[in-house]
Amino acid sequence: PKEYDVVIVGGGAGGISVASSLLKRTQDLSIAIVDPAEVHYYQPGWTMVGGGVFTQEQTVKSMSSLIPSGVVWIKEAVATFAPASNQVTLEDASVLQYRQLVVAPGLKLNWGAVEGLTETLGHNGVTSNYRYDLAPYTWKLVQGLKSGKAIFTQPPMPIKCAGAPQKAMYLSSDHWLKSQVLGNIDVEFCNAGAVLFGVQEYVPALMEYVKKYDATLSFNHNLVKIDGPSKTAWFEVKDAEGNTQVVEKTFDMIHVCPPQCAPDFVAQSELADANGWVDVDQTTLQHKRFNNVWSLGDVQNAPNAKTAAAARVQAPIVANNLLHELGRENWVAHYNGYGSCPLTVERGKIVLAEFGYGGKLLPSFPSWVLNGRKPTRLAWWLKEIILPPIYWKAMLRGREWMVTPVHEKG
Ligand code: FAD
Repeated sequence: PKEYDVVIVGGGAGGISVASSLLKRTQDLSIAIVDPAEVHYYQPGWTMVGGGVFTQEQTVKSMSSLIPSGVVWIKEAVATFAPASNQVTLEDASVLQYRQLVVAPGLKLNWGAVEGLTETLGHNGVTSNYRYDLAPYTWKLVQGLKSGKAIFTQPPMPIKCAGAPQKAMYLSSDHWLKSQVLGNIDVEFCNAGAVLFGVQEYVPALMEYVKKYDATLSFNHNLVKIDGPSKTAWFEVKDAEGNTQVVEKTFDMIHVCPPQCAPDFVAQSELADANGWVDVDQTTLQHKRFNNVWSLGDVQNAPNAKTAAAARVQAPIVANNLLHELGRENWVAHYNGYGSCPLTVERGKIVLAEFGYGGKLLPSFPSWVLNGRKPTRLAWWLKEIILPPIYWKAMLRGREWMVTPVHEKG
């Protein structure tokens, strides 16, 4: 087998950043990134595409332009892990040997878990900002809808960017309000969960917008089936006693956030916990059983918000701790669970949720500069103008002084 000091599985937000962070610290390790994808997506931009703010093209770059020089790109998918022998097998059956392994293939969007969804996505008023090719369809539907029923769904947790389902609702409603058709549109948010947002401090600001847009909140409503041609959706609804019944709703447009889970090849591996996610120590991001295995981004089981913002903070921590394991750093970095969710409550304003483990608020700015619990224009500018270049030019290139690493020495 080919041998590398470090093999990184996945060249997404986490994988590329960790490679760059390693290179900033040392140049004499052999590093390989394994990823079959031609392109790399800036997924946080898809909400803005669905809201008519960004173009699709602003959210994609070729993988080859992002793989740092000095890193070998193996354009294949990983199929299996053999952590006891420090090997991964690729889909073409070749084997890679590693000293240290970083697992960052993101999560699986489980479209198939909703009956009828795959067949109708992109047609019949059924859309999702969770796919690059469909985000423009959201904006097209929003512009075209003048009256009727608009449903926005949220599946059971965990999902990446837990705010994204409601961001789509707010940006759509804002457009309808400004074009004076909102009065003719019945907006409903059907959430499999029981709360609007998991961190209570942000809920009052969000509720102001729910009221402003006159949206109906339907909690414990889990989308299970959809029929495009008849524009009908079915929800499993749980009552207070835990009894479920299936409720049918018709729509003119529906924005679906798909159920999400660990990728199959991870869930079936020795690296997984009982739920399929990579089983890491939530402070060091080291695997709980295999000391030379690390994980970051959406695929691991630490209870942080699954966001690119979290991966941004995790990458230098993994790089540092991996090098510590190799005897090249003399301290261990600790992750506090930081993640961020910029809630686009209207075009031009954002409620900037930033929090860590246990819902502890971790604002990047003093509240007199930017109060994340209030909708602000500054947070919108951050999202629209500042964060995309920070992602492409600082985070993915390992320029940590620009990305405010919030890690602590252990
Ligand atoms: P990804 O970036 O998804 O990358 C995974 C990579 O692994 C891909 O390149 C893939 O090709 C590769 N891969 C998959 N399988 C294999 C395999 N078998 N072998 C090798 N490689 C493989 N985050 C924010 O911070 N702020 C936001 O506002 C925000 N909004 C969002 C809105 C939407 C609609 C969506 C979909 C996401 C949003 N996110 C947001 C979340 C953010 O995009 C993710 O949390 C982040 O991309 C996770 O990084 P990752 O590296 O774990 O996975």
